[in-house]
Amino acid sequence: MARIPDAFIDELLARTDIVEVVGGRVPLKRQGKEYSACCPFHDERSPSFTVSPTKQFYHCFGCGAHGTALSFLMNYDRLEFLDAVEELARRNGMEVPRETQQRNENNDTRDLFNALEAAARFFQRNLEGSDKAKAYLDGRGVDAAIRTQFMIGYAPDGYSALKDALGTDERRMKLLDRAGLFSKNDRGHVYDKFRDRVMFPIHDRRGRVIAFGGRVLQKDDGPKYLNSPETALFHKGRELYGLWQVKQANQKIARLVVVEGYMDVVSLFQFGVKEAVATLGTATTPEHAELLFRNAPDVYFCFDGDAAGQRAAWRALESVLPRMKDGRQAFFLFLPDGEDPDTIVRQEGAAGFDARLQEAMPLSEFFFQELGKDIKLSTLDGKARLAERARPLLAQIPDGAFGDLMRQQLTVVTGVGAGSAATPSAPPTPTRRPPATSPGQKPSLVRHIIVRLLHKPALALAIESTHGFSALRLPGMELLLELIALVHARPDITTGVLLEHFAERDEAAALQKLAMQELPGDEESWRLELLDAAVQLEKQMLQQRLEELQAKQRNVGLDEADKYELRTLLQARIGRH
Ligand SMILES: [Zn+2]
Repeated sequence: MARIPDAFIDELLARTDIVEVVGGRVPLKRQGKEYSACCPFHDERSPSFTVSPTKQFYHCFGCGAHGTALSFLMNYDRLEFLDAVEELARRNGMEVPRETQQRNENNDTRDLFNALEAAARFFQRNLEGSDKAKAYLDGRGVDAAIRTQFMIGYAPDGYSALKDALGTDERRMKLLDRAGLFSKNDRGHVYDKFRDRVMFPIHDRRGRVIAFGGRVLQKDDGPKYLNSPETALFHKGRELYGLWQVKQANQKIARLVVVEGYMDVVSLFQFGVKEAVATLGTATTPEHAELLFRNAPDVYFCFDGDAAGQRAAWRALESVLPRMKDGRQAFFLFLPDGEDPDTIVRQEGAAGFDARLQEAMPLSEFFFQELGKDIKLSTLDGKARLAERARPLLAQIPDGAFGDLMRQQLTVVTGVGAGSAATPSAPPTPTRRPPATSPGQKPSLVRHIIVRLLHKPALALAIESTHGFSALRLPGMELLLELIALVHARPDITTGVLLEHFAERDEAAALQKLAMQELPGDEESWRLELLDAAVQLEKQMLQQRLEELQAKQRNVGLDEADKYELRTLLQARIGRH
């Protein structure tokens, strides 16, 4: 994938006004230095969503959503990163730079996309000529419009239909091979991977074909579903079959229904349930969970009611749990024996399927039911065991009302709290801000500086990169040094981008909190406070070094250089007193 230089992103965001970007989509009200609105990412009546023009980021006190103008576009318009960058660049009349090497790579990628597109067309043409395959789709009630929409095709029987039609020269053979369309036998003979199967092209989020799934026509013709292997373009753990079509069919996706097979997705579409996607022969991965929630607040997982289905459902639960921010909901629907979404929607129609979804089990219920399966809850031992099993899982839920309720539920069921976080905190009060420091607690110097840097990153430029406190052993020092170095390397960086830089790190939540604090004073007073704190850190550094040298003097003695340094330090201290 093309990499865009950080400097360009910094400049792009420096030229963009987040208030304009958000305000174009959500009605904003001015409130002091900031703007507020009802959060577009969760349901609420009183506004707890704020946009800061100075820090160039948004934050929701209700659901915790936050980010830059870029992440807002990604989440609100559901754009991929590169598309969001291009959108902002277009607004600002800037051209997205790409290096020459990447341009070649892009050409190469384009050829691969073209080869896959040509294969999809080939399979579509062959569907027209195959009575057998058409009869299969007719039998499933899949009409012409849906066939076109999903680009459904047919891979002919035999071993070289695709190869003969498209592999006309060495280069094209290589491309088709890299696209995952060939298999090779022990003797190195290359032949078509998909044979005598109904073909379902898998589209990426921009509607380009990146892989295929093939389904057998008759039950005993090998594996029911056969997928393309992993290729440069296709990573099955990250793709959802049907997502492209769902996005085309819905302005706003209120819910996504996750099913197991391509035919289920297509059938549901045919019968009017246009919100279904399928994982591609894998369990639900964390990447899937992220992708699902990025596109819809409510996610319904459909599984067979058997033991395998229950196991798959639990895997899905494990993937979504760390992503259950407030405003998101997950449900589990277990189907009766021998049924799948395809058969159900054909018997009961969209209304019947919908009614089943309404009855689906909420995540919380499935969670406690599964955990308590082989446990006798009437005994103390049983309660203790349930609490023990639940704790590490509950700890993964992001801060918020949902996590609090889950922990409360554990206490109700077992009488045992879930650890330190067991006391349920009050639901977040709209636009209430944490005070700059809790009463009776003196903020450390390091924290003092970090808060100011988060409010106005450019202040770090006032601290010389050769400052004298880098070896000071204090909590948070490494983070501070990293922040300073980051701003020196990227002087245009906004608060929003700075926070984004740490998004995947343990410090992210703490930094986010500090950046949200109300900080009295203005830029100039922050600069003076920051310089003052830096001077005090330098003094502490001198003291630390002085003590080190004195300890060395007592233990092993000093060499000439040490003695000179000690003298200088002592004089400097006298000079300051
Ligand atoms: Zn929110």
